Amino acid sequence: MSVGNFIDLRSDTVTQPSEGMRLAMASADVGDDVYGEDPTVNCLERTLAEMAGKEAGLFLPTGTQSNLVALLAHCDRGDEYIVGQQAHTYKYEGGGAAVLGGIQPQPLDFSEFGGFDLRQVEDVIKPLNDHFARTRLLCLENTMQGKVLPIQYLIDANRLASARDLTLHLDGARVFNAAVALRVDLNAITKHFTTVSVCLSKGLGAPAGSVLLGSMEFIREARRWRKVTGGGMRQSGILAAAGLYALRHNVQRLAEDHFHARLLQEGLSALGYQTSAAQTNMVFVDMGDADAEFFSRSMHCHGIKISSGRRIRLVTHLDVSRSDIERAISAFAACRTL
Ligand SMILES: *Cc1c(COP(=O)(O)O)cnc(C)c1O
Repeated sequence: MSVGNFIDLRSDTVTQPSEGMRLAMASADVGDDVYGEDPTVNCLERTLAEMAGKEAGLFLPTGTQSNLVALLAHCDRGDEYIVGQQAHTYKYEGGGAAVLGGIQPQPLDFSEFGGFDLRQVEDVIKPLNDHFARTRLLCLENTMQGKVLPIQYLIDANRLASARDLTLHLDGARVFNAAVALRVDLNAITKHFTTVSVCLSKGLGAPAGSVLLGSMEFIREARRWRKVTGGGMRQSGILAAAGLYALRHNVQRLAEDHFHARLLQEGLSALGYQTSAAQTNMVFVDMGDADAEFFSRSMHCHGIKISSGRRIRLVTHLDVSRSDIERAISAFAACRTL
């Protein structure tokens, strides 16, 4: 149940830490993580690295900082990364790589399925020549607006990256949603990437934290950049304990969120709303010319928090139950302006 009896469909970042998670946090063994002495942080980093088939991990406060640190560790000033026009690492992180790293983005539109047309990627890779930034890295996102990238696409992207000497980074804020949707281990996705960033504060339900994964050498470099960007925390085992708890209890249950998103989409579609097919834990509703502000306020009066806009993103998560989905559909029926 959500806070104050509201059902909050704005994002999967709004989850409340459960009783069990809070207990795990309260009893965590901690130490100074800048000295590498927090056993709970070390355990989280090792556990997730093992799940992802990588040599090492690094715990960071946010996914934004995790992606930034990855870019700073991979690229020098005057290098370039190929990134989605709609990607979080390009559009929603304040241009951090350019601001702080002198790293130039080369944005490309994502295709309908959530990845790039790889021929377009080939076309924007710049020749080694003093005129150009040095194209160093290709960045994918999975899930991308709830969409799961097919494994074959990851294989193809990896082949291209290897052939053209590019590093392949995954913004895997919701990569566990992708793994659960495909019914595969995390490693089946992450093995195609050089480095991966995973969020613990989205569908996994932790209050904060992301983990960056890669080779020992890469993580050593990333650790340095984490300190430089102000992300070296001290007794952060308190937070890492929530992450470990989430890995133990909240991964397989993501399937429920995906099921709830499908129920929501079917319910809204039956009411005549223009929805796109539910993908993992997200449903998009096209509001056309409806007054989005007014609609969102009406929904609020019915106890449902949604973002406002012409295309509303609805996100299911562990504080949204099956009966909450039915309540949300009833509210959409009551507020209908179609
Ligand atoms: C949430 C998110 C991030 C990181 O966000 P923070 O709020 O900084 O933790 C990165 N990429 C994607 C796709 C996200 O959804």
